[in-house]
Amino acid sequence: MYQLINLPFGASELEPVISAETIALHHGKHLATYVNNLNNLLPSSEFENLPLEEIVAKAKGAIFNNAGQILNHNLYFEQLQAPSDDNHPVGALATAIDEQFGSFEAFKEKFTAAAVTLFGSGWAWLASDTNGKLHILQMANADNPVTKDLKPLLTFDVWEHAYYVDYRNRRPDHIAAMWQLLNWQVIDRRFMQ
Ligand code: MN
Repeated sequence: MYQLINLPFGASELEPVISAETIALHHGKHLATYVNNLNNLLPSSEFENLPLEEIVAKAKGAIFNNAGQILNHNLYFEQLQAPSDDNHPVGALATAIDEQFGSFEAFKEKFTAAAVTLFGSGWAWLASDTNGKLHILQMANADNPVTKDLKPLLTFDVWEHAYYVDYRNRRPDHIAAMWQLLNWQVIDRRFMQ
């Protein structure tokens, strides 16, 4: 049985970027529903005892959609912390971002464009390949870089449920504010694993 993850922050700790109301809905309702759905779908399927990443890489249809959304949201929530204005990459990932994109600012601009222009519901990703090369991806609905043999590092959820309570239709304002919340220690650890 999959469990709903515990959040690494208090429900109101991400304010004013993300409200406690959004967290209650996003974690307590949307993510909880994906967890319940997957737990109902998995018994007696060929995916029953596989790790989540493997299910997402192999499954199709409803199992893929629900497993993908659990993996995506776990990665999303676990990389967030209370807002800070002086927030920037650390460690080996900071070096890789500078080398491949020129600077953190140049990377931010590219990643922001990917998140803002993604049509419909989906996720913007920073992922790495087996050579440590970084990739920015736009992925629709429940998709995750593991379906392309890439390692997910950082993600912005651009489904409307992630921002509509706090920002209404203003996705670009939500994305601009999201940079204050990133826990780069967590993101660097994923890169180094
Ligand atoms: Mn979401």
